[in-house]
Amino acid sequence: MFTDRIIGKLRGEEEGAMLIVIGGVHGNEYAGVDATAKVFRRLRDEMGRDPGIKMKGIFLGLIGNRLARKASRRFIKKDLNRQWYEENVGRIFSAPEELLDEEDKELKALLTIISSEIIQEKPSRIVILDLHTTSAEGGVFSIVDDQPESLNIALGFGAPVIRGLYQIFDGTILRFFNGSNFGIPTTALAFEAGQHDDPLALNRSESAILHLLHYTGLVQEHLQADLTTPKPAMVAEITYAHHITPEDHFSMKPGFKNFQHVREGEIIATDIKGEIAAPYDCRILMPLYQKQGSDGFFLIKEMQP
Ligand SMILES: [Zn+2]
Repeated sequence: MFTDRIIGKLRGEEEGAMLIVIGGVHGNEYAGVDATAKVFRRLRDEMGRDPGIKMKGIFLGLIGNRLARKASRRFIKKDLNRQWYEENVGRIFSAPEELLDEEDKELKALLTIISSEIIQEKPSRIVILDLHTTSAEGGVFSIVDDQPESLNIALGFGAPVIRGLYQIFDGTILRFFNGSNFGIPTTALAFEAGQHDDPLALNRSESAILHLLHYTGLVQEHLQADLTTPKPAMVAEITYAHHITPEDHFSMKPGFKNFQHVREGEIIATDIKGEIAAPYDCRILMPLYQKQGSDGFFLIKEMQP
């Protein structure tokens, strides 16, 4: 299994944007890392075959939570994608090493690499793609922030775009880098490529990376040749998030898929207090079918892009 923090780095002769792709922020999600490694192999192959292919800017691929990945778990002590808020990052960088837990160390290592690459390379702009997969079926969508740029990029993935999730979670990679800490225009977005074990999750992640390589001007168009033209994508807004703690003994009713319609009053889960019903007609997103996680499910409604 590939476990180096840096999956790959390629730098063009010309200056340009920096595309940072992060896979495996959750250690039990493999498609993002595999797809990133595959794109690097492919770029190296193609550039080896045709010296006429020139890159412009920097393409960097990173593994998020290496320790959790080795353990094939979502995380060891805590969710790495909920730790990226200023106060916590400050604590991690000032605390002695022996006081840091596994995810603190992972965050520190990841941010140290990203910061030093940005300082060293001084890109004109930064785009960060955070790749994930989900525990339930049918979870192919992107998560954007409130910048039009982020929505523009995501529409090119040809998958539903979810707005409002970004504001719900504190401490995500998305939010941290959109709050740009480097004085360089930065756009971050996340892409959920499907169910953890869905073989197509790798292809979808690969397509998303290739789309961004083109969008950021890093590589010429012909590398996109095998990409289909994206279909018009649904844009939906989060209307409800069901946060849970272990004490809730939360359990999803079996069989819910991402984007499945649910009707008002339909029982979707149970917890220590009893049954949990949908409060209105809507669609369900990210129903939790794994042990680790702090959100039971989300509800969404379609909106005009
Ligand atoms: Zn994930």
